[in-house]
Amino acid sequence: MKNDISEVVLSEADIQAIAKRLGEQITEDYEGKTPILVGLLKGSIMFMSDLIKYIDTHLEIDFMDVSSYVGTKSSGEVKILKDLSTSVEGRHILIVEDIIETGATLNSIVDLIEYRNAASLEIVTLLDKPVNRKLHVDVKYAGTEIPDGFVVGYGLDFDEKYRNLPYIGLLKPELYQ
Ligand code: 5GP
Repeated sequence: MKNDISEVVLSEADIQAIAKRLGEQITEDYEGKTPILVGLLKGSIMFMSDLIKYIDTHLEIDFMDVSSYVGTKSSGEVKILKDLSTSVEGRHILIVEDIIETGATLNSIVDLIEYRNAASLEIVTLLDKPVNRKLHVDVKYAGTEIPDGFVVGYGLDFDEKYRNLPYIGLLKPELYQ
């Protein structure tokens, strides 16, 4: 599996440093507020579990499964495959995403959560790939920007594979082109 990676984009240590920095910022901003962290399945699972270890305030977690992707190209359509099990009404919501590319996924989710009357809504993302952005997204807590290229590992997949790599790596283009 490791031979399919051309370059490590974020090492395990890089990821922990980002989770710690963002976790400490969130701790400061949400003291006494008990936010709900909403992880977008399946890509955000590892980031969610690392991030919450660095947040030192009461919080709840929930997950949504939305799909906008077939293979390596964004389809521009978002389907809700699994909805939240908690009501967001009057609650402070933090959406936890693995990577933002076109912005389509987050735009739809932000609209939905605002419609459901959350008290506040912010976005946390590990990776930001701005080169293919089509819709503006306000990201308060961003890990790091990455250039174009298809990354896998640390929860991110290519056709459901590579999620178990402990770091973020660039998939060799000949494997998906
Ligand atoms: P957006 O809706 O912003 O275009 O795409 C967000 C979703 O696309 C992410 O949650 C992720 O599932 C997928 N995605 C975008 N870029 C990549 C990438 O480089 N690698 C992987 N594995 N998924 C990506």
